[in-house]
Amino acid sequence: MADDFRKWSLKAAEWGADYRASLRERPVRARTQPGEVAAKIAPSPPERPEPMDRIFADFEKEILPGITHWQHPRFFAYFPANAAPVSVVAEYLVSAMAAQCMLWQTSPAATELETVVLDWLRQALGLAHGFAGVIQDSASSATLAAVLVMRERALDWQGNTKGLGAFPAIRVYSSDQVHTSVDRAIWVAGIGSENLVRIPTQGPLRAMDPAALERAIAADRAAGFVPAGIVACVGGTSVGATDDIEAVAAVARRHGLYLHVDAAWAGSAMICPEFRHFWKGADQADSIVFNPHKWLGAQFDCSVQFVRDPDSLVKTLAIQPEYLKTHGKDGIVNYSEWSVPLGRRFRALKLWFLLRAHGLEGLRAMIRNHVAWSEGLAARLAVVPGFEIVTAPMLSLFSFRHRPRDPATDLDAHNLALVNAINDDGRIYLTQTRVDGRVAIRFQAGQFESTADDVDIAFDAITGLAAATG
Ligand SMILES: *Cc1c(COP(=O)(O)O)cnc(C)c1O
Repeated sequence: MADDFRKWSLKAAEWGADYRASLRERPVRARTQPGEVAAKIAPSPPERPEPMDRIFADFEKEILPGITHWQHPRFFAYFPANAAPVSVVAEYLVSAMAAQCMLWQTSPAATELETVVLDWLRQALGLAHGFAGVIQDSASSATLAAVLVMRERALDWQGNTKGLGAFPAIRVYSSDQVHTSVDRAIWVAGIGSENLVRIPTQGPLRAMDPAALERAIAADRAAGFVPAGIVACVGGTSVGATDDIEAVAAVARRHGLYLHVDAAWAGSAMICPEFRHFWKGADQADSIVFNPHKWLGAQFDCSVQFVRDPDSLVKTLAIQPEYLKTHGKDGIVNYSEWSVPLGRRFRALKLWFLLRAHGLEGLRAMIRNHVAWSEGLAARLAVVPGFEIVTAPMLSLFSFRHRPRDPATDLDAHNLALVNAINDDGRIYLTQTRVDGRVAIRFQAGQFESTADDVDIAFDAITGLAAATG
């Protein structure tokens, strides 16, 4: 058994290294039809043990073809989910130890490393002293935790006990550019989507209009609602919408509202001082989430939430049955009291490996390259006849559209056909969105091992296939 574990662990490590080295030769997006993989898997579980070499061979034969290669250097779709090789190595170690790190005493090193490494990140992002960090499994969980705190704070910490039926409706404010995780947090928190008040946006960054925000809060209060908090975004998922955090924070302060900033993708770029103007005022937020598992290079999952007042998270989420008490250990942190799930993986190790192996300078260089390459591609596409830049680069994200030669062709259908043709081709992977109701194609450079040549290939694939599509 022990020998087998060694043999197959070594084989997995070899496989991983070969896989990464082979990515440029593979099509980025899986070319699988719905149901194709499931049809190849035995419909019932085996009664008798099977040999590992057969299981491993089936993994390569049946599973791998159905994988979209997120670590491919020409993955330009969605946002990146970077797993730098060093963070993969850290995850091997975490898997081998398989510690459940819910409390300080269930693995003191996990808790203490998390505290220190998250303060490294706070410094790296240029955030003020006084923010405490916690690793959540996803930005969705961090936003849910923040919305629950908003709710409890607005209800004088009575919502968990009395239920929401005992109170007038709670109101939360955001633009229509925030991620759908905000809608779900509102549902799950029992607030109800009708009480997520959408504030109109303005300007090229599609920022919430602070005056409209202020008016909405005042009108709600006059109508007997309970305004609780604001969710602002920096680098929205569709086209990078970015609120004016300083202006929104001023409104939040004037009205005593809790401010949560979702910078899940763009937050990583704040390690570069020249990009920090995009979230000027973030120091005044109550809660900020960013995902090192997106752009920075920490293997999924690793979402960091910074909060100014951890006590309000603990007051909202801590639950202490006798079997979870850590008697005689005053002053220690039990991070499971800062999040909805109880169980916790040891996620700080990959951050520690990543930050040490690359240094902030290495990571800044990567992010600066991505931004510069993306701006360069947008500038090149803008002058190709038939192409139009729909939203200008926000960091490394922009969107574009191609006009069909025949004006009778439907613009949306043409661009959907183009994005499909690009993805079927396999050299690159892009996704689409809608901007003011019309289809636009998104491009973001962000993959850990992308090069300028990969972005050149993107230019060739996009322009070549557009010419062929008509
Ligand atoms: C990706 C993303 C999310 C969701 O992140 P998860 O970690 O997958 O929950 C939330 N907000 C923004 C702006 C995002 O880009």
